Amino acid sequence: MQVENKENCSGCGACYNICPKNAITMKIDDYGFYKPVIDSQKCVNCGLCEKICPLDKFKSNNFEQPKVFAFMNTDEVRLKSSSGGAFSAFADYILKNNGVIYGVIWDENITAVHFRATNSEDVEKMHGSKYVQSNTNDTFKQAKTDLDNGKFVLYSGTPCQIGGLKAFLQKDYDNLLTVDLICHGAQSLFYLDNYKRHFLKNKKDEKILSMNFRSKATPWGSGYFTTTTVTDKGIYNSEKDLYTAFMDFSSNKSCASCQFARLPRTADITIGDFWGVDDYDKTMNDGKGLSLILLNSEKGTKYFELIKDNYSSKEVPLEFVVRYNSNIIKPTTPPPEREEFFKDIKKGKSLQKCKSKYYKEPLSIAIYRLLPQFAKDFIKYKILKRPKC
Ligand SMILES: Cc1cc2nc3c(=O)[nH]c(=O)nc-3n(C[C@H](O)[C@H](O)[C@H](O)COP(=O)(O)OP(=O)(O)OC[C@H]3O[C@@H](n4cnc5c(N)ncnc54)[C@H](O)[C@@H]3O)c2cc1C
Ligand code: SF4
Ligand code: SF4
Ligand code: SF4
Repeated sequence: MQVENKENCSGCGACYNICPKNAITMKIDDYGFYKPVIDSQKCVNCGLCEKICPLDKFKSNNFEQPKVFAFMNTDEVRLKSSSGGAFSAFADYILKNNGVIYGVIWDENITAVHFRATNSEDVEKMHGSKYVQSNTNDTFKQAKTDLDNGKFVLYSGTPCQIGGLKAFLQKDYDNLLTVDLICHGAQSLFYLDNYKRHFLKNKKDEKILSMNFRSKATPWGSGYFTTTTVTDKGIYNSEKDLYTAFMDFSSNKSCASCQFARLPRTADITIGDFWGVDDYDKTMNDGKGLSLILLNSEKGTKYFELIKDNYSSKEVPLEFVVRYNSNIIKPTTPPPEREEFFKDIKKGKSLQKCKSKYYKEPLSIAIYRLLPQFAKDFIKYKILKRPKC
């Protein structure tokens, strides 16, 4: 019965997938995150769920100092992707070689779920960061069946989900390529529900068909995110940063002590955004999206070698990218108002109202944003003496 009520449970679903008696259900807890609940009538106390839970025992044998590449897919793919389309590059290769892709899609209720795809139409649905915790459902079991049948499998997810998958599999497979995200935390289902409810308030009878939290309606790297929501009646762009302003407030409690935000990384390949690229080399940023790819294992390196000639990429220093994307090596500290924020969300307070309560931009930053680029550069490089590298 030990996997219930674990303080730092990430909700990866490994215990649910392993239980031979189907005694575990992933239920939504008081904060809107998936957590395992055991049916004591069905449980035979075999101990398997506790044995495979990756918390406090997962050990990665990957490289301590992975090579890092800035990466760009084609313009067409980047406009559909959150960053520079790194995921697509690996997924396309595995798919062309008769493989199977696991990643996150929106289901018909606009809930994020892991899904098994065997064609490019279904892989397309995986594009875009769904900033909410995804339900891995039965995909660890499905992936094991594929692997045992000799299929090539690419499984993508947050690092804790990849840790859960590896713990569930209990052995290495040559035909498995894992891809994890640089991850600052997974958001509550209540948070997304709140957003959807307020969005639909004055849109009678409209149905949300999809949401894109990283819409390229706002140029990549501008410092802002726009959420584009598609309904059966139209396409709507949110005010800047409306959903994304509260990502740290609305993350899972376990994210604050994440055991996977570290080197060596969990998956063969880590993908994310090349934040800070303007301070590295401005000419690399065309506003359409630039990925980071970390090669964490020999297998990850091998697959990168196989795809890289079809795209644009450049090696960049690990120390530089970590400075702007600290979740590569450490978890995010949640804001002190997290508890109060959750109370407000559960009461149904809109994110606009939350914004005026919690999100006050310091005057200095507001002024800085209004400055012309030459003045920003002067402050950055001459006054703050930030390295250009
Ligand atoms: C919750 C979350 C937090 C993140 N935090 C950071 C961060 O701090 N820094 C950073 O650089 N990047 C972060 N990312 C990753 C970044 O947003 C992009 O997803 C990543 O760079 C891939 O972009 P792409 O252009 O290669 O692929 P895209 O084609 O946009 O592919 C999206 C990939 O993300 C996966 N995915 C989407 N939603 C989820 C989800 N809810 N859970 C698990 N997997 C999902 C898909 O399966 C697919 O593999 C985060 C992503 C998520 C989902
Ligand atoms: S296996 Fe995953 S979902 Fe189950 S208790 Fe451990 S962390 Fe939580
Ligand atoms: S102890 Fe065994 S039977 Fe009971 S919930 Fe865990 S895995 Fe299932
Ligand atoms: S921060 Fe860690 S625990 Fe939270 S979703 Fe990301 S990988 Fe999982």
